[in-house]
Amino acid sequence: MKNSQPIRMCIICRSRHPQKSLIRLKQNSKEVVAFDGTGRSFYLCRSCVKDEKKRKGLAKRFKQDLEQLTRLLGTLA
Ligand SMILES: [Zn+2]
Repeated sequence: MKNSQPIRMCIICRSRHPQKSLIRLKQNSKEVVAFDGTGRSFYLCRSCVKDEKKRKGLAKRFKQDLEQLTRLLGTLA
């Protein structure tokens, strides 16, 4: 069986998922934004994105405004 699907890790729960099913973001100087093809990116899984506690943790970790981050994730999820 061929398994060439790229697998990436969610930075919150560290579970591994097919890249396509994850939400890809990057940090643009201080702001977390959708990945646009340049710079270093990271991935979030959809169950973490839906979990408010985890979003709070992420906002803290990246020093982001929770509401703004939630809005961004809402547009991507
Ligand atoms: Zn996760």
